[in-house]
Amino acid sequence: MKIAIDGPAGAGKSTLAKELSRKLGYIYIDTGAMYRSLTWKALQKNINLEDAQALFNLAQNTKIHFRNDSDNQRVICDDMDISEEIRSPQVSGAVSRVASYQEVRKIMVNQQQAMGRSVSVVMDGRDIGECVLPDAEYKFFLTANREERARRRTEELKLQGYSVNPELIEKDMLQRDKDDMKRDMGALKILDDSIVIDTSNLTIDQVLEKILSIIQED
Ligand code: C5P
Repeated sequence: MKIAIDGPAGAGKSTLAKELSRKLGYIYIDTGAMYRSLTWKALQKNINLEDAQALFNLAQNTKIHFRNDSDNQRVICDDMDISEEIRSPQVSGAVSRVASYQEVRKIMVNQQQAMGRSVSVVMDGRDIGECVLPDAEYKFFLTANREERARRRTEELKLQGYSVNPELIEKDMLQRDKDDMKRDMGALKILDDSIVIDTSNLTIDQVLEKILSIIQED
């Protein structure tokens, strides 16, 4: 069984995907964390983000995997745990650029498909329903109004200890969504077979209930 969850930043995808995979006993794959890891490494190495070839080489030589702790999923990049580092505003500000290169995306999509082969998965991202798991049994598109999404992103960053400017967060978030929607390959969009859920006025438990009822109905 494959479940794809796509949608813009702050729609609640990862919290929901984590809970859903736990409930169903499936593997959870946070594909955004993979693009973030690559971006983190590129920033560490001072790679010019306009240099497609350098980013392609970097993607080819980077190993990303997930490790499940008792409560959380950790992101391991070349044997280093960078779960916290990849959530920094610097990485958030640069990740869409890195994710815009087709050759980089091809490598990521291949890795994600390999991770999802022969296991039941819940995968969240932007292009899961279209490119990574086109034959997923369920394709959900989670969204929420911009105020709510910005509020959630702000809370998330505060919890991680960043001092935040909510207006700036909203601006960055909208810019990232715009960039994610306009790229040639793997753009963020609602598909013909997407089930759209607006989470603006719903708690995570309510979204989870809704999704479970759709899955269990069949
Ligand atoms: O999901 P998250 O917000 O962590 O994703 C960070 C960024 O990674 C997105 O804004 C997007 O640019 C990129 N991404 C992508 N394709 C995916 C998942 C994430 O391009 N499947």
